[in-house]
Amino acid sequence: MKIGETFRASPCRLCGTAEREVVADRGRGGAALTTAICRGCGLVSHATLPEEAEVADFYAARYRLEYKGGYAPKRKHALRALRGAMARARRLAPLLPARGRVLDIGASSGEFTFVMAEAGFAASGLEPNWGYGEFARREYGVELRQGGWDSPDFPREPLDLVTLNHVMEHLTDPWAAMARIHAALAPEGLLFVEVPNLEGVRKQISNTFHAAHIWNFTPATLITAAWQAGFVPRAGERLDSTSLVFRKRRADDLAPQGADAAHAERLVRQMAQEQSRWAYFASAAPITRRWQRLRRNINEHLVTRRHATIRAMAEALLDAAALEPGSPWAARHGWRMRRGPQPANSAVTRAKA
Ligand SMILES: [Zn+2]
Repeated sequence: MKIGETFRASPCRLCGTAEREVVADRGRGGAALTTAICRGCGLVSHATLPEEAEVADFYAARYRLEYKGGYAPKRKHALRALRGAMARARRLAPLLPARGRVLDIGASSGEFTFVMAEAGFAASGLEPNWGYGEFARREYGVELRQGGWDSPDFPREPLDLVTLNHVMEHLTDPWAAMARIHAALAPEGLLFVEVPNLEGVRKQISNTFHAAHIWNFTPATLITAAWQAGFVPRAGERLDSTSLVFRKRRADDLAPQGADAAHAERLVRQMAQEQSRWAYFASAAPITRRWQRLRRNINEHLVTRRHATIRAMAEALLDAAALEPGSPWAARHGWRMRRGPQPANSAVTRAKA
């Protein structure tokens, strides 16, 4: 099928419309991948939705690969994951009861589970990838079980927070996952979701879609999907973002607007024009991106070389963050102070020497 071609498919999960339009015929790396938009609401997905078993096979193959000889992420990837996890923790910790119960689904190599546990929460994770989970248990000593949202090892309820960080776009049935989470959450429990924002991308169209991303959400389609599973964004959330904290919806909440035919129309236009090869190269995005990447690489090199292990690096990041005002890890700083002299590599000791 060619870009711009329309076809009929099974009713859209979001709005029930059957009409789709092809928006891309290639995925990342130039691989053949047909992506379509629902003309009724703007929900974008693979033109042919994969079966659950195919997706399970895809990830099983990947983790077989990564488990060979004991998996360990590269130091710089662990650093990136730790920084991301700490940013999420700073945002989410103040919304939770003390010692609240937290579950990270798709916990990857365990960084978020670790930093939340270190902030005093009862945190655990579910991760289908055996190698990642094994690394997390070994390096961070966190409670990570193998499996996904449908795992029989889903922790005992009720939970205060469930997080899906760059997970929902990979699931065959995000609605079923959110419904399971809804049932597991306490009445005031929260769901954090972050997915790539199709509306915000400044990338070549050929670089936007990914075989592993079954769904490509916009703020409007994400909020509508969450509504259908019983969630609304918390007051104060940025509704033009696809990084959102949801609460359970109540009888007097109003249904979200925005995922409609006009949204679909706008997205099709955006993808055809703004994201065309020409617009990409005419914009400063490639240069800015390259510059940012270079700066990030230098910074990561400087930080990672200071620590003998990933765990030591994580501890140092948390120690530094413990001094920030309102830090989720403030107790950790107090504990170090009470414990007595500074460790040998601290700035204080060096200054005295
Ligand atoms: Zn639709």
